Amino acid sequence: VSFGFEDVSEEEKVSRVKGVFRSVASKYDLMNDLMSGGIHRIWKSNTIARLNPQPGELLLDCAGGTGDIARAFVAKAEEVRQRRGGEPAMAIVTDINDDMLLAGLEQRGDDGLIWACADATKLPFPDKCVDVVTISFGIRNVVDIPAALREFRRVLKPGGRFACLEFSHMATKEMQAAYDAYSFNVIPQLGKIVTGDKDSYQYLVESIRRFPKQEKFADMIKEAGFSKVSFTNYTGGVAALHTGWAI
Ligand code: SAM
Repeated sequence: VSFGFEDVSEEEKVSRVKGVFRSVASKYDLMNDLMSGGIHRIWKSNTIARLNPQPGELLLDCAGGTGDIARAFVAKAEEVRQRRGGEPAMAIVTDINDDMLLAGLEQRGDDGLIWACADATKLPFPDKCVDVVTISFGIRNVVDIPAALREFRRVLKPGGRFACLEFSHMATKEMQAAYDAYSFNVIPQLGKIVTGDKDSYQYLVESIRRFPKQEKFADMIKEAGFSKVSFTNYTGGVAALHTGWAI
């Protein structure tokens, strides 16, 4: 099955991705919980624990959608600040799609975060200005992934850290077959029932299959100039967390 992404221009691809998320924005959080049985919350919480947020830090969360990672980062840094003092941490949530940002703002409030509509491949920020860059379930939707990785490297201060949480590939063929059966059959049907839009969820499932395997994606992060790149599989590789440092 193909969503027709192969034979179209880069501009058209970006516009189609925007259309997918415009269509699902208002039900986005609900669908995440339904599709993953809530497990995405554990993956995100592990990601935040690995980042070890500190008071006074500035996070840039790209393709941040409704703001899960930014909210959790700032809350965790605040817990540390209550014990040890310091300045509050801050976070900027950026997304190419204003409907996703607005869904987050309207349904869950702004939580004191900075919200900005921006393409991950053309970040409107100066060099070396943030301590941490995150992108969670967003990179596979970016049409020019190497360009986005270079932008993440550019805006990080020396010593800054990068974390990318994304759906990935299972460790064994048998597990992959079981996961494919679930994702190709159940997720588009669930999307149809909850959002009325089966095609967007068909696209999401296909985009997971097309995304590079863990090792290949780690190489892409290294090519963008990151050091000490590594990855951790979650739930047998359903998702993977890649991390790297700007040194
Ligand atoms: N980070 C959130 C999370 O973990 O729940 C949202 C992830 S959602 C699956 C993917 C997001 O990527 C969408 O909000 C979409 O608009 C955004 N996106 C796609 N292409 C993008 C790009 N080139 N630059 C910035 N955001 C992009």
